[in-house]
Amino acid sequence: ARIVDPGGADDERHFEAALRPRRLADFAGQPRVRDQLGLVLEAARRRDAPPDHVLLSGPPGLGKTSLAMIIAAELEQPIRITSGPAIQHAGDLAAILSSLAEGEVLFLDEIHRMARPAEEMLYLAMEDFRVDVVVGKGPGATAIPLELPPFTVVGATTRAGLLPAPLRDRFGFTGHLDYYAPEDLARIVARSATLLEVETTRQGIEEIAGRSRGTPRIANRLLRRVRDYAQVHAEGIVDHQASRAALELFDVDERGLDRLDRGVLDALCRRFGGGPVGLTTLAVAVGEEPDTVETVAEPYLVREGYLIRTPRGRAASPMAWEHLGLTPPVASQG
Ligand code: ADP
Repeated sequence: ARIVDPGGADDERHFEAALRPRRLADFAGQPRVRDQLGLVLEAARRRDAPPDHVLLSGPPGLGKTSLAMIIAAELEQPIRITSGPAIQHAGDLAAILSSLAEGEVLFLDEIHRMARPAEEMLYLAMEDFRVDVVVGKGPGATAIPLELPPFTVVGATTRAGLLPAPLRDRFGFTGHLDYYAPEDLARIVARSATLLEVETTRQGIEEIAGRSRGTPRIANRLLRRVRDYAQVHAEGIVDHQASRAALELFDVDERGLDRLDRGVLDALCRRFGGGPVGLTTLAVAVGEEPDTVETVAEPYLVREGYLIRTPRGRAASPMAWEHLGLTPPVASQG
């Protein structure tokens, strides 16, 4: 797995859980979502009723799961955690819904990946707090309506656009999470370092924040590697020098590009004069599958403006040339 993968790995669950912000006040960055959500939750508390259902959308690693847990904590309610892919049948969802306590928070991660029949059951349950439990099979089957106590669904998705409109409409509040500014990432790294009892310097923290691709999950992971390095080489202190040396060792450059990202840009500039070049040709030059280049490396390169997708293929931007320390060819005359 790449060190700059924004998705979570199983072997870091424990580490991540320890660093999760517990309350809204500990949640750094995303001021808009924080203020909006703070208002929704406070109003619900004053009415002494569950808040509207909440949809959180945004790329992986930006804090959707953390926010769902914060919502439950702020409401002082238990949380039930499941995910779209875990709900293959409407019956799976019926079992969960019928066992929810009043006011409980139901967190549905990757909600866009839920099976269609379950989706329909969910939006009826969200609207009317009712499920139809089907008893029996075939022509003799009957649907028995079951009343549910009011509860709150918190859905998370990386692709809000993939949710069918009837389901999307059942969410009274949607919070969109965006990539974090370096100052916010620095606050997150500083907080994590305190929790991990790691000594740091301001510059050491900023170096990690600047290479984290706007993503708290990556920031926390890089901190872990720098901490290792500092323990072995720098008396445990995460300072500028230790951060730089460790991240160089793990192939994460100043702008958060790793070996694969740089390989793609390098091939594009050196072998294809900056492009445009077709995805398959580019992938062969890098020694990767086209799919890997497209889904793993490209999103960040495009987002940051290093790589441009054109109808005729992939092209390097002036920033890409500059980042590699190369001079772009002068456009031929006439
Ligand atoms: P997502 O569900 O969007 O993939 P998570 O909520 O699992 O993201 O967050 C990934 C990691 O990043 C967690 O360990 C969490 O501690 C950290 N994190 C995310 N957002 C923040 C934040 N705003 N403040 C502090 N830590 C954060």
